[in-house]
Amino acid sequence: MYPNTDLHIAGRWRPGSDTQSLPVLNPATGDTIGQCAVATVADLDEALAAAARAFPLWRAVAPFERAKRMRKAADLLRERADAIARIMTMEQGKPLAEARIETLAAADIVDWFAEEGKRAYGRVIPARADGVLQAVVKEPVGPVACFTPWNFPINQAVRKISAALCTGCTVILKGPEDTPASCAELVRAFLDAGIPGDALSLVYGDPGTISGYLVPHPVIRKISFTGSTLVGKKLAALAGEHMKRATMELGGHAPAIVFGDADVEKAISVLAPSKFRNAGQVCVSPTRFLVHDSVFDRFVEGFTTFAKGLKVGDGLDPETKMGPLIHSRRLDAIEALTAEAEASGATLRAGGKRIGNRGNFFEPTVFTEVPLTSRLMNEEPFGPVAMINRFSEDEEALTEANRLPYGLAAYAYTRSTERAARVMNRVESGMISINHHGLALPETPFGGVKDSGYGSEGGPEALDAYLVTKFVTQANF
Ligand code: NAD
Repeated sequence: MYPNTDLHIAGRWRPGSDTQSLPVLNPATGDTIGQCAVATVADLDEALAAAARAFPLWRAVAPFERAKRMRKAADLLRERADAIARIMTMEQGKPLAEARIETLAAADIVDWFAEEGKRAYGRVIPARADGVLQAVVKEPVGPVACFTPWNFPINQAVRKISAALCTGCTVILKGPEDTPASCAELVRAFLDAGIPGDALSLVYGDPGTISGYLVPHPVIRKISFTGSTLVGKKLAALAGEHMKRATMELGGHAPAIVFGDADVEKAISVLAPSKFRNAGQVCVSPTRFLVHDSVFDRFVEGFTTFAKGLKVGDGLDPETKMGPLIHSRRLDAIEALTAEAEASGATLRAGGKRIGNRGNFFEPTVFTEVPLTSRLMNEEPFGPVAMINRFSEDEEALTEANRLPYGLAAYAYTRSTERAARVMNRVESGMISINHHGLALPETPFGGVKDSGYGSEGGPEALDAYLVTKFVTQANF
């Protein structure tokens, strides 16, 4: 039922040239469910040649025609959503309903970029002299190399592929080795819809070897990476050394401020499910909950009740609300972080332990009174762990929100427009959502500041990342 994953290079699905492969594990059982092909340097060379060959042809395809094919890919994703969701849940662990939503959301993203590609306008600048035309033209940057992670195997990849293709760029995607088959289904939808085989390659293998070869390669004109800050900094340095444009969508440690005048029940009903969505393996997951003294007990009680009631299990079970962590490394990381938090004096209110010894399940976990020196308050947990601390003066919460080098997402709940404005002005974050969870729509910017990276993967800004600006000026004879 679970397919093995081949590489897609130069229009052909095939194994790596030395036929090596990596096992794919079901995180709910630990069983090996399939194999993922590994690309050699010779395979990468073939993908690079295809991307270079296809670039002048694909950029010459009219944006209207590109959009037609992309919209067909979106329709194919919708038609295949049930089958793709099953594959995703088997390799990634998230509940089937979430995997389906991710696939359908990807179709909307493709649609939006397909349309926006038609509007990659330049501009005409009034000239100082008669008979002079001054124009700004936007051109595709060229072949791009994209690197995407396992937490949203389709959605992390679809933003990069769509922005690249709609602007006329060609793509080599290094997909996530832990979750290769659903990402491959995304690529298949584009190819089946008429995107030229040379214009979209998919490779897997050793991430360091592949990025080390592709990023400096002269064919590649831009890179886009989603993953940890640690790896992002290395790739950004490599890109800088070779003067490559880069988009970096990195880690976060999102503050969620609940002021004394907030609708506390609403805050719990939105923040608690978003904390545990995808077992907390989400870069914009709310993580440091800063709650005013006057509502602290109510918030903690409601949040903890939600965490304790969450049904954790195999994502294929329709009752499951939270699946396992992706791999045993993540489980080890969460066990170490939670043990350290307890040892450092944090109060454990819910969870805190691994569930069973089969699969990578961890209890939805809630800590309060967590010392700022504990690792959890400083490192991105990327797991189902919430830390709730109290504040009495607004200023304390704003200072704490900005304490860490991360700046991806931030949340606040308040009935005061003045407080909301203060959060919007003062919190250093690429995205701020107040009184609801309103992030990650295709038409809105998505990206961070500080150590959370740079560039955007949503809205018109996402297209800019794949376009270069050319100024042309011409005088009449
Ligand atoms: P990891 O750092 O080993 O890998 C994270 C991702 O980066 C993976 O997709 C991996 O294939 C890729 N990667 C690693 N080294 C690379 C290299 N040299 N070149 C290109 N790609 C490379 O960590 P992990 O254990 O798989 O995930 C844990 C951490 O990764 C989390 O703590 C989180 O910070 C981060 N992460 C972030 C996101 C996100 O959405 N921003 C997604 C997944 C993981």
